Amino acid sequence: EIRVRYAPSPTGHLHIGNARTAIFNWLFARHYNGKFIIRIEDTDQKRNIADGETSQLDNLKWLGLDWDEAPDFSGEYGPYRQSERNEQGIYQEYIEALLEKGLAYKSYKTSEQLAAEREAQQAAKQAPHYVYEYEGLSNAEREAKYADFEAQGLKPVVRFRVPEDKVYAWDDIVKGHIEIGAKEVGGDWVIQKADGMPTYNFAVVVDDHLMAISHVLRGDDHVSNTPKQMMIYEALGWAIPKFGHMALIINGATGKKLSKRDEDVLQFVEQYRELGYLPQAMFNFIGLLGWSPKGEDEIFSVEEFIQMFDETRLSKANAKFDQKKLEWINNQWMRRDKDKVMPQLIGELVKADLISQQDADQKVEWLKSVIDVAGVDGIAYTQEIVDITRRPFFELREPLTDEMIEYLTSEEGRKVFAAWQTAYEALPLTATAADYMGAIRGIQNELEIKGRNLWNPIRIATTHEVQGPNLPEMLVLLDKQNVLQTMADVKA
Ligand code: GLU
Repeated sequence: EIRVRYAPSPTGHLHIGNARTAIFNWLFARHYNGKFIIRIEDTDQKRNIADGETSQLDNLKWLGLDWDEAPDFSGEYGPYRQSERNEQGIYQEYIEALLEKGLAYKSYKTSEQLAAEREAQQAAKQAPHYVYEYEGLSNAEREAKYADFEAQGLKPVVRFRVPEDKVYAWDDIVKGHIEIGAKEVGGDWVIQKADGMPTYNFAVVVDDHLMAISHVLRGDDHVSNTPKQMMIYEALGWAIPKFGHMALIINGATGKKLSKRDEDVLQFVEQYRELGYLPQAMFNFIGLLGWSPKGEDEIFSVEEFIQMFDETRLSKANAKFDQKKLEWINNQWMRRDKDKVMPQLIGELVKADLISQQDADQKVEWLKSVIDVAGVDGIAYTQEIVDITRRPFFELREPLTDEMIEYLTSEEGRKVFAAWQTAYEALPLTATAADYMGAIRGIQNELEIKGRNLWNPIRIATTHEVQGPNLPEMLVLLDKQNVLQTMADVKA
């Protein structure tokens, strides 16, 4: 059975890179009818933030993910938080097993000692590595040393004894064959910290084994951890899962690795959520970061992603984070799901205080028409509806600019404006877009003025803007008293 997991550390909110890891593991499970498990890796207590776990899970749900096993959920392999697993002594059991087999040992070196060793290595131009302190001692002699250190009140860490001449090799689902020499891990590494907490590279192996994880799909940054983890599988006599390391995400604008310091890209899922991006669009965009289906299409539903998923199409090449593409994908989804998006669009207008909730409830049909006329074609995400509807439909007219005044005061402009004011006043309240269009065509024929010289004075006189949505359609939605007042203001 395929069992995959997403293992977030609650040290921050849901980053695009983490969301991608979660999405691909989820697709893997759903495509093969496997299980998708959430495990919280919260052993680094100092770095955990209060709402790290809840906000990450909440944003995964928003993206459309669900899970088969998770904290506070269900599953026979729990608990699903490492802090709770540690309290139950799960890691301690295997730490002791390794100590007993002589594959791990207690180390009492102080940080001053370690720093001094590092310095000496640097001076001798050696790569930094851990120096084993019990070389040539028997088990009994080592135990005696432990007792000495304990008597001095020192607290040990537990280190894994690295078999230095070994080479660790695996066939990575994404990157193909990889070999890393044991020497490259920098010597005996810590598996349990002085406070009794297991380190990530140790706990992850115990958990993946006990939770029967079959495939580990994660970020490229974990490649160098894999040999350490393989050492533990081997030492405990456990089968090694299949590993896949997904390509780096790079900032499309700079071509460099996407970094939390890049200010030109929003990197947290909830930031997009707040701007009104649609979850299916976010999923669609992230689902194409480092993966591509056959063919040229780029707009896919979650169901289609599940159906098409194929781990052999995960790309070795860096994935480019391209904001323009995300905007395009979101726009495509807004057009497709216009009815579904309508309440969200109206909500944005209320949130921006262009209209009260009460008025919005009473004028739903009018608001729908306003949004239709303004058009979602030109906006990247729902919050932008505020800017394109604000001036023409909701707010008092802005003062005229010099450019506008020029259009209105030119010889032709004056004629058009006068004719338009008369025509507009004469039209009934029930006039349709076609009626307004007819009136404007009438002016065109009578004055023999067309194009910009016709439309600009009319639009400026009516809305105090040079550009905007389709004018005849817009006129149907505007308040007549308000428009008449606007025209009067222009005259004055
Ligand atoms: N907690 C680790 C992380 O956030 C999980 C890595 C893994 O999937 O093994 O990067």
